[in-house]
Amino acid sequence: MEKQQNPLETVHANIAKACKIARRDPDEVTLVAVSKKHDAAAIRPLLEAGQRVFGENRVQEAQAKWPELQENFADTKLHLVGQLQSNKAEDAVDLFDCIHSLDRMSLVKALAKAFDKKHKRIECFIQVNIGSEEQKGGCTIADLPKLVAAARNSDIPLAGLMCIPPQDIEPAPFFALLDKLAEDNGLSGRSMGMSGDYETAIMLGATHIRVGTALFGQRA
Ligand SMILES: *Cc1c(COP(=O)(O)O)cnc(C)c1O
Repeated sequence: MEKQQNPLETVHANIAKACKIARRDPDEVTLVAVSKKHDAAAIRPLLEAGQRVFGENRVQEAQAKWPELQENFADTKLHLVGQLQSNKAEDAVDLFDCIHSLDRMSLVKALAKAFDKKHKRIECFIQVNIGSEEQKGGCTIADLPKLVAAARNSDIPLAGLMCIPPQDIEPAPFFALLDKLAEDNGLSGRSMGMSGDYETAIMLGATHIRVGTALFGQRA
């Protein structure tokens, strides 16, 4: 009987397949395992299997969970994928290695200040409200050039752009648009694609995919 793949192996196989079709090198795609709402017991098997990049969406939850896990897996990288309040910027800079949700001028200022104070600069993705949705986080497409310029002026290391496309509609056009916006703004990284659409995102240039449910199962 064939050995059953675990979820991490399945995701790796799907990444490899999508990269092959897109003629891309799988090393260009970073899998961010989004472990929000999952506890240390759920996370540890992935660490033991070699996964080293994880995503969390709340600073406080990450502060509670990760320091202990990182004692045994010191080379783990933590990415903040959720909205960041300016008053949590310093805490975020302490704990995280990358922020995917830089989306406004006030946060550029708060992060620049936190970087100076902590003598540490971490890479940031600018989140774009790619579907121009009323409720969604992310800067508008119109505001993007200004925000990119402000981040560069404040010595914020920019990794690229990030988006969460509207739900229940084909994501490919939104991924293609983010890819174009990144190119127009001279940015190399594209954080796009989640459990339901990461293969599509890879075909359209994703460099960072943020996958939760496909690795950990449904969240409570
Ligand atoms: C929760 C979350 C994900 C992961 O979503 P899944 O559908 O569970 O893969 C990715 N990105 C962000 C910003 C999230 O908040």
